[in-house]
Amino acid sequence: MSPVAPAEVDARLVARLRGAGLRVTPQRLALHRLVAGSPRHVTAEALLREAATELPGLALPTVYSTLELFAELGVVRRVAAPGAARYDTDPSPHDHFTCVRCGQLYDLDTSAGRAAARRAAESAGHQVEAATVVVTGLCVSCLG
Ligand SMILES: [Zn+2]
Ligand SMILES: [Zn+2]
Repeated sequence: MSPVAPAEVDARLVARLRGAGLRVTPQRLALHRLVAGSPRHVTAEALLREAATELPGLALPTVYSTLELFAELGVVRRVAAPGAARYDTDPSPHDHFTCVRCGQLYDLDTSAGRAAARRAAESAGHQVEAATVVVTGLCVSCLG
């Protein structure tokens, strides 16, 4: 994956915010640049620490509401995990292993399992919006 220029990263968010009729703020742009950096699973607390030098005075509730806004815009995906909510900076469909001890998320390729879950729901007559597979247990580093 080639690195994306910061101006292009900003332009993407600006287009989405304007499309939704929302304001473009320096804070939203700065937080978006941080989450757009690399594919990972970030908590609001961790993002607040990362943003502290660039955005002094930024408060945790603001980081939460900005991440929730990014989730609504499809920039990140909120992933249910034990403990703090985690936001996946890769919004494309993929599944996770979540550690019950440390709360860390690991990406999993379970497209076959996801398709089976979707078919099972559809054959029971439900209308599917999204299918995800979550595997829980103790992660490799907690076992180490
Ligand atoms: Zn763990
Ligand atoms: Zn992920």
